Amino acid sequence: MRILVVEDDPGIAAQLKRTLEDADYTVDMANDGEEGHFLGDTEPYDAVILDLGLPVMDGITVLERWRADGRSMPVLILTARDRWREKVAGFDAGADDYVAKPFQMEELLARLRALIRRAAGHATSVIECGPLAIDTRAGRVSVNGEPIKLTGHEYKLIAYLAHERGRVVSRTELTEHIYDQDFDRDSNTIEVFVGRLRRKLGNGLIVTERGLGYRLVDDAEQPESSD
Ligand code: CA
Repeated sequence: MRILVVEDDPGIAAQLKRTLEDADYTVDMANDGEEGHFLGDTEPYDAVILDLGLPVMDGITVLERWRADGRSMPVLILTARDRWREKVAGFDAGADDYVAKPFQMEELLARLRALIRRAAGHATSVIECGPLAIDTRAGRVSVNGEPIKLTGHEYKLIAYLAHERGRVVSRTELTEHIYDQDFDRDSNTIEVFVGRLRRKLGNGLIVTERGLGYRLVDDAEQPESSD
């Protein structure tokens, strides 16, 4: 899952980046409203954390412009404590949730997980797909109840496929949601990660749709032992 953070306070920005990366999110940072608006308008994000008090272009304007352009990613706004008008303006501009500063990182992470989950249509934090279970809260994966140890990139890939369960996801889309803006993107690495995941999780869970991309099997499908 790839997250955009638009925050001008260097201390909070650094803390958010560290916390989100520790939670296996891919993170892009912007420290003013104009840069944040541009990234949110041109890159595919699974969620955005948007401060409202920003230089160059304020957060409410950024959000209004995204929504006017049809950008529908979940947006969590950071507001000042006791400024209820700011929260109202934020929701009216298209925000999905907020946390008031100063906030606990744990609360922010929980709200972010809920936003991403709801955007993908999942009601709980554990996504199940046949024998596979992904606990998005703990960042843990199991097959038939057996915990499987994955690297950060492997987890990001399987978590994205699980959120998009049943849909074919192209290599380009996977690349865009797993790597940050500055990563040297080579779509062959996706194939390498898929190969490793198949070895760890068992064949048949990740289906290759030739020329289109990958998808996780539906619960109704019988995992095949080939491919
Ligand atoms: Ca600010």
